[in-house]
Amino acid sequence: MTVRIRVAVETPQHTGLGAPLSYESERELAPGTLVHVPLGRREVTGVVWPGEPEDAADVVLKPVSRVLSALPPLPRAWCELVEFTAAYYQRGVGEVALSVLPPELRKLDDEQVANRIAKLHRKWPQPDPQAARPQTPPLSPEQSAALDRLAQLNSDSAPTALLHGVTGSGKTEVYLRAAEQALAAGKQALVLVPEINLTPQLEARFAERFVGRSIVSLHSGLTPAQRLRNWLAAHLGLADLVLGTRLAVFASMPRLGLIVVDEEHDPSYKQQEGARYSARDLAVYRGKREGAPVLLGSATPSLETWHRANEGRYVRLSLSSRIGGGALPRVRLVDMNLLPKTRGVTTAMAPPLVAAIQERIARGEQSLVFLNRRGYAPVLHCGDCAWKSGCPHCSAWRVFHKLDRTLRCHHCGFTERVPRACPECGNLDIAPIGRGTERLEEQLAGMLQTPDGSAARIARIDADSTRLKGTLEAQLGAVHAGDVDVLVGTQMVTKGHDFRRITLVAAVNPDSSLFSSDFRAPERLFALLMQAAGRAGRDAAQAERSEMWVQTWYPTHPLYAALRRHDFEAFAQSQAKEREMAGLPPYAHLAMLRADAKTVEAARGFLQAAAEVASELPGADAVMVYPPVPLHVARVADVERMQMLVESSSRVALQRFLSLWMPTLHELRLQRKAPEQRVLRWAVDVDPLSI
Ligand code: ADP
Ligand code: ZN
Ligand code: ZN
Repeated sequence: MTVRIRVAVETPQHTGLGAPLSYESERELAPGTLVHVPLGRREVTGVVWPGEPEDAADVVLKPVSRVLSALPPLPRAWCELVEFTAAYYQRGVGEVALSVLPPELRKLDDEQVANRIAKLHRKWPQPDPQAARPQTPPLSPEQSAALDRLAQLNSDSAPTALLHGVTGSGKTEVYLRAAEQALAAGKQALVLVPEINLTPQLEARFAERFVGRSIVSLHSGLTPAQRLRNWLAAHLGLADLVLGTRLAVFASMPRLGLIVVDEEHDPSYKQQEGARYSARDLAVYRGKREGAPVLLGSATPSLETWHRANEGRYVRLSLSSRIGGGALPRVRLVDMNLLPKTRGVTTAMAPPLVAAIQERIARGEQSLVFLNRRGYAPVLHCGDCAWKSGCPHCSAWRVFHKLDRTLRCHHCGFTERVPRACPECGNLDIAPIGRGTERLEEQLAGMLQTPDGSAARIARIDADSTRLKGTLEAQLGAVHAGDVDVLVGTQMVTKGHDFRRITLVAAVNPDSSLFSSDFRAPERLFALLMQAAGRAGRDAAQAERSEMWVQTWYPTHPLYAALRRHDFEAFAQSQAKEREMAGLPPYAHLAMLRADAKTVEAARGFLQAAAEVASELPGADAVMVYPPVPLHVARVADVERMQMLVESSSRVALQRFLSLWMPTLHELRLQRKAPEQRVLRWAVDVDPLSI
């Protein structure tokens, strides 16, 4: 007697099959069970999926090859999360399911999985009652109020709450206490952070508090074996706390009782390839589905979250002052138009700012100077013939890295040694234009010294200086230990770190995003600057003299006016008004269709054909399809990239439309066989971050 089952497997995208496939099994298999099944000529891993196969009774089905019965089935809620993700972001169910499971699960056989599980059980029995009781600080009145409100709401039904707290207001303490409550109720807690770099720090804070409890992390920096082990610990219910980056939102947790999304506004929560999901949004869905409260924490919430809190769909919890009553840093705008020029060039660092940093060095305090551009200079230039260091494969400049004397493309990676002379005209005098962190570090070293006349200690933290494993930790350690006077870095250093000795933060050149065509650029800039400011004066004793300096050519810009007052609300309100008038999120819903091809014509042709198909679909009148345009950096690694925006005032209408449109696009791609029409790939991005 055989039964028919559905199995979610990874099918090649071009087949257009997103749904689970049907197989035959010798016995009933619980949904969520891992199996191996034949697919074409291969044998692949799949997940037994809830629901009945729809095939007619006379269709002959292939049998399941093997059942991985050592692994307890994935919970029903997990399957639903995957199914929701696949439907909402327009991907295959199997594709999503397999891409969020630890890759090792596909390689191991039943016995190996059983061994791993047995080993984990030996390592974790029970929480240790003998463990030392950790020190917990008394809560501030605002922290208490937020936690009380959360507990009160939670006794009714699990709320989604925006924890809006200024930097240094003790949001992490609220997460810790909320997690404590969840654990006390026998539940598991999931804590998401935007950056891998922030996980060790957070893990240390949780480990210190939850002595004797098992905490695991999940992020892409783990080895495959570590990732499997930690994932299993969560799935088996052995881990009480799971900390991780966006992929951790898919951790299988049978007793989920709390989800925290720290820095919920951060763009890193959006996956940018494959299923382009937002871990923040999925966390909200998941919390609702599993009856777990969701805490979205930020000093500068995304406008989407802010809007939902205003509508009353999310509960707003506020922490308006810093722990210890410390002030937020005073914001000082430097008008670059008024600075003296040397040979027509404005100095990189305003003299009063240099003096202010110098003062800090004399007092033994630290400064953080940030510039969102790594390398020495963004471009090399020949004054005689106007040659510039373009990338031959991309529509972008290659960046000059002085330390290893290379020109590097930050888009495709193409790297060459710096030419001695202009490749076009032989001029020996080719010069860097503009400035990156390497050059800033060099310039600051030339300007700053300690009171006894020795060189100031300057450290640089960016993707280049931290490429080797362990270097970031070492550099951060030096900053915390006070072995650094000035920290230079990209936005990497502005996020999350609890620096105690920094009393000055400076943004050297933040203007570029003020006039970007991307509608979210101002929101991102404001968040970045507020977050950077939040690194200063975290020790209340020093807060009074802490400062945030911003060098700008547009000192009267409203964004800077709001920053000066630390007034997120005013900023959010003016942004919201602009978005409403322009018909942009959160007042409209967007999807972006992208196409990559060897030629602009092929990419555009595909999108235009897609638009024609779209106009004939039912429900087409509820969406607006815009003309195709090139991406901001149109060509990368010799591939032309075009995109086409789809907009609707109704999320449901957009979803309905996309689900009809997607299958036709799979067909469309197959029809366009001629070499000059061929697209390399296409993808839809639902709720794109930037347009
Ligand atoms: P945020 O995440 O809001 O920027 P943190 O949670 O990092 O702020 O808190 C800032 C600092 O205040 C940390 O050093 C933290 O240990 C400390 N802190 C938080 N809550 C309290 C409290 N109730 N009493 C004393 N110190 C606290
Ligand atoms: Zn030249
Ligand atoms: Zn390139």
